Amino acid sequence: MKNQEIADIFSRIADALALKGENVFKIRAYRRAASSIKDLSVDIEEIYKEDALTDIPGVGEGIAKKIKEYLDTNKMSKYGEVTRDVPESLLSLLNIRDLGPKSLHLLWRELGVDNLIALKETIKDGSFQKLEGLGEKSAKKILENIKDYEERMGKVKRFLLGGVIPIVNEIMGKLQGFDFVSRVTPAGSFRRMKETVGDIDVLVESRENKKVMEEFTSLPEIKQVLESGETKTSVVIEGLNIQMDLRVIPPPSYGAALLYFTGSKEHNVHIRKIAQKKGLKVNEYGVFRSNRRIAGKSEKEIFNLLGMQFIPPEIREDRGEIELAMKNNLPQLVNYDDIRGNLHTHSNYSDGGNSIRELVEKALDFGYEYIGISDHSKTASYASGLSVDELKRQCDEIDSLNKEFDNIVILKGIESDILPDGSLDYDEEVLKTLDFVIGAIHSGFKKNVTERMEKALKNPYLTILAHPTGRLISKREGYDVDLYKVMDMANKQGKILEINAYYDRLDLNEDNAREAYKRGIRFCINTDAHNLRMFDWMNLGVGVARRAWLPKDAIINTYKHKDLIEIIKRNG
Ligand SMILES: [Zn+2]
Ligand SMILES: [Zn+2]
Repeated sequence: MKNQEIADIFSRIADALALKGENVFKIRAYRRAASSIKDLSVDIEEIYKEDALTDIPGVGEGIAKKIKEYLDTNKMSKYGEVTRDVPESLLSLLNIRDLGPKSLHLLWRELGVDNLIALKETIKDGSFQKLEGLGEKSAKKILENIKDYEERMGKVKRFLLGGVIPIVNEIMGKLQGFDFVSRVTPAGSFRRMKETVGDIDVLVESRENKKVMEEFTSLPEIKQVLESGETKTSVVIEGLNIQMDLRVIPPPSYGAALLYFTGSKEHNVHIRKIAQKKGLKVNEYGVFRSNRRIAGKSEKEIFNLLGMQFIPPEIREDRGEIELAMKNNLPQLVNYDDIRGNLHTHSNYSDGGNSIRELVEKALDFGYEYIGISDHSKTASYASGLSVDELKRQCDEIDSLNKEFDNIVILKGIESDILPDGSLDYDEEVLKTLDFVIGAIHSGFKKNVTERMEKALKNPYLTILAHPTGRLISKREGYDVDLYKVMDMANKQGKILEINAYYDRLDLNEDNAREAYKRGIRFCINTDAHNLRMFDWMNLGVGVARRAWLPKDAIINTYKHKDLIEIIKRNG
């Protein structure tokens, strides 16, 4: 799958244009295309085959032509053209936080900075500080961020779970299709739904090792075979450049192997200790008494033999789950199919790619009972936020769609910016007409965020606080906020915190969600979908909730419509 590759090329074109100081609209167009291609959950080549490239938000005729060129020839002439005179070492400086293309353009043009060493030199000799818009303060900040950047570069690369799920599912689906394969299961941190994964482990139940390996290594998704043996083959996946290890396991050991390769390491160590006390040995082949295998076919069989309940993979971290499982006292976690609706979605009234009708139909595909439309509010001009009139028009459209569809309820919402003074973006008169209000901080990440959020939470019209930390995984740390204070206020005011399932947000994360739950707070898991394909990310959010040990009744969008209304009404 070439989605990530193509998205990367477009963002590099945008970066290069920005470094050259070119037209902002052109730059924005490439960035928009890059971000919507990155978010696709299907193979862009499939879309090309259906001749539907221009249906992707932000992809017009010109960009579509470039995608075709790349898919046909594996080259994009525009990329070569734009980057010819921009050094690679300059482009990579964009990975330093707070050093945008505008400043780099200036540094390059005025001081000839085109690599990291040169950049550090200019800060040392003070010429950086003299440039327009960059002073002593930003020099200090950039110097710190350079340190971060150098540290990050030294670390092992990890991949966002949401970025690898589509292709891994595709590969597993193909393997499952062979009649000599009975089961295919992911293992490792992928199965435990960790927000990032280092590599992918997949187990296949079969007795035909050779056939499985032959079919696996000839899949088009496989870029390179690192090593191939009878029981294990390691490959690199096309496009993502992530390593995947495939193991073929015979049925009597399948459960034992699954348990072993799912981890976590800490969990497994603890399990083996408990087995030892019972005079048993657990390894990847089974559970043994002396040398006789007494279990191994399924994980459930093994857990039961050791005197435990089945432990869901998401909580196998040795954080107390084993002790509880032995007392038959594990919490009942929210399930992936418990979700009855999605309350944070963007339509083409603001920066989403689809009409409200399309969003509603997609929600019906998911079997949802309700969907909330929550476009950006008027201050969010960068995301085409809605004026009062547009919001009114949207509400009218929702009224008429509600009359038309009798198997789903469409709720009127807004994602209101929380303004610098902590107030919401519309007057009471306007907010009154909505079913719910999601409050969100989209600017001023360092400016009184805690106070602003506290004030917003006291506002009777606010229902849900969106992406409460603002972090982007391995990209941006988020707001300067005292999250515990925010949680306390949310709890006091009976407000809902969001688990935003957008694949590079996952915000709240598992630790924060667990902490908030302990305080008695309830959550809404939302995809923040800007197009139809992003509805798929819901499972990522449920994964976070499960890793945080949350039960179903802590998640308001598992409630029936009638009960949900009771909750959101109380706030509004
Ligand atoms: Zn938002
Ligand atoms: Zn949003």
